[in-house]
Formats: sequence, C-alpha cells, structure tokens
Amino acid sequence: MLVSAKEMLQKAKAGHYAVGQFNINNLEWTKAILQTAQELNSPVILGVSEGAGKYMAGYKTVVGMVNGMLEELNITVPVALHLDHGSYEGCMKCIEAGFSSVMFDGSHYPIEENVAKTTELIKITSEKGMSLEAEVGSIGGEEDGVVGKGECADPQECKAIADLGVTMLAAGIGNIHGKYPENWEGLSFETLDAIQQLTGEMPLVLHGGTGIPEDMIKKAISLGVAKINVNTECQLAFADATRKYVEAGKDLEGKGFDPRKLLAPGAEAIKATVKEKMELFGSVGKA
Ligand SMILES: [Zn+2]
Repeated sequence: MLVSAKEMLQKAKAGHYAVGQFNINNLEWTKAILQTAQELNSPVILGVSEGAGKYMAGYKTVVGMVNGMLEELNITVPVALHLDHGSYEGCMKCIEAGFSSVMFDGSHYPIEENVAKTTELIKITSEKGMSLEAEVGSIGGEEDGVVGKGECADPQECKAIADLGVTMLAAGIGNIHGKYPENWEGLSFETLDAIQQLTGEMPLVLHGGTGIPEDMIKKAISLGVAKINVNTECQLAFADATRKYVEAGKDLEGKGFDPRKLLAPGAEAIKATVKEKMELFGSVGKA
C-alpha cells in the first residue's frame, strides 16, 4: 500500500540520511526502482511530473500500475507516489487519483499567493493523510535552451511556508535541474544552513540531484536535506545502455528485437543508478 512521505522523511531527517525520489516514465522504470528499493530494504519515493503523468496515460493509470506492482512484486518497503512540480490543478487531480503525496510548485507566484494556495492544499492533503511538498525560490535549469543559474531562496520566506505546516520543503540553494554547466558555482551551504536554522525539524528537499558531487550531497544531508530528487541520471543511464545494445547489433540477433530483451539493459542500468544513489544517500536498510 502506498504511504505518505511524512514518516519516512521525518525518520530520515532525525537519522541524518536522505530518501531518494526517483522519477518514473514507464513500467520498466517503475519496476526497476521498486525492485531495487525492496532488495536494499530502503524507503523510496516515486516521482511523477505532470508531463510524465500525461505520457503514461494519466494519473489513474499510474496509480493502477504502481499499486498493482506493490502487490504482485511483494513490495513491503515504504513507497510514496508523489507528484513532482505540480500545479494547483495537477495536485487536485493526483489527490483524486490516489497518489499518496504531492508537490505544489508555487515558486513562480508572489509569496502571498504561494502561501494562500499552499494553505488550501495543506488542508486537503492532511485530511487525506497525504504529504505535501512546497517550494520556495525557483530551481534553475534548462528551459527553452536557456540555462538558468540556480537561485537561492530567502530563508525567511522558507520559514513562512514551513510554518504553514507542509510536510517537506524544497528550497533553491544554487541547485539546478538537468546537467550542471561547467561554470556552476556549487551549492550554497550558507543558504541551506540559514534555512535549516529557521525551519528546525522540517525535512528539506534537494532537487536536481544529477551531477552534484558526492561530498556536496553528503554535506547537504548533514545540513538537513532529507529528500533528494533524481531524474536525469536514470534517463542518461537508460539511454546509454540502450544505445550500446543497439550499436552492438544485438537487436538483430535472434529475438533481440523483443522489447523485453531490448529494454532489459536500460532497466538494469536504472537499477544500478538507483542502488548507487541509495547507498550515497544512506537510506539502505532504513525501511
Ligand atoms: Zn525539481
């Protein structure tokens, strides 16, 4: 059964480790992540962006697929199904469809409007026993070919949103989505520290986990990050393994064209990436 991310993240924050959010794109992705979490006895959060939800034929389809797998694959570790960077409307749809967690990304609204919409969603999600992630200070990344520099959130605004009663808080600390540019200045630990000082036990979320050096990840966890989002890295691993299979001509050998064979190396590559991240984040054996 899907669970809220609240308990797993509070335990992670108290235990100084982080739970990975791994975004899913299809059945292979979902299966690879769930099997790895079970094998490593780690809690896990499955992230679904609005675009990926649409791609997978809607949120209800995603909920059906994930719930089916939890049962058929005997997954007993805590699993949360979480909307990533949701709009207000997207959050409402996921709540109705049976997700156990949502992120409301109100970072592009003025702070007053972000507060108002977040407050409404806190009421609805807490009534349903769901977790809610809010964001302050937008997270940079490539959008329409423009690579934005990671913005740093205002710690006072973080406190204002945290005090509303959200479950976890994403704050920009110089992190960005996708691949990091050569001239990236690194995470702002000063900002992270200031945010943690003001938000206390609130589990903090680090987006854009792909390509942040390991020592920075560990330092971020020591400063209160309890959830780390990984998306691009699994995509790169999947694409690389699939390309190698095709370039080696394996799809042309025997029944190598069978999708169960063609997609297998990519799925294995996702498993390896997820394992590496769970070990780095310290969530192995914490289910
Ligand atoms: Zn993000």
